[in-house]
Amino acid sequence: MTEMRRVTAIRNGTVVDHIPAGHALQVIQMLRIDMTRTTPVSLVMNVPSDKLGRKDVLKVEDRELNQEELDRLALIAPTASIAIIRNHAVAEKLKVELADDLVNIANCSFSNCITKNAREPLPQRLCVISRDPLEVRCYYCGSGQDLEEIIENII
Ligand SMILES: [Zn+2]
Repeated sequence: MTEMRRVTAIRNGTVVDHIPAGHALQVIQMLRIDMTRTTPVSLVMNVPSDKLGRKDVLKVEDRELNQEELDRLALIAPTASIAIIRNHAVAEKLKVELADDLVNIANCSFSNCITKNAREPLPQRLCVISRDPLEVRCYYCGSGQDLEEIIENII
């Protein structure tokens, strides 16, 4: 098995550590990092972790994640720990917390949901019913949303 290791120290940006192994690409999607642009992203997958067995680590240069972006991450990487790096040093440590309500994070997947037909635009609102196993439902129509659908429907 090839071990892919490209751990580069970054000067400014965000390190997302303790991502469950194999989920780093979903994290990139969730963060809406545009891979066609020039943001340098380092990705380390499947490294040994005391906490998780195996983990992925993601480093995004010149970008500091905010709380709203962290809320998105909580869906796929509730164990993630975040470090904001400024001038090569850890300036802030942040935790990921899964909110009970996910407002304007992803569109409901149900095609007849009122959010798609309302005269007045409604905020998208998904409710976290259960965390383990993850169960998420649309606040308006009650449709269950699986993780794949949520990722697909990220706003
Ligand atoms: Zn709905």
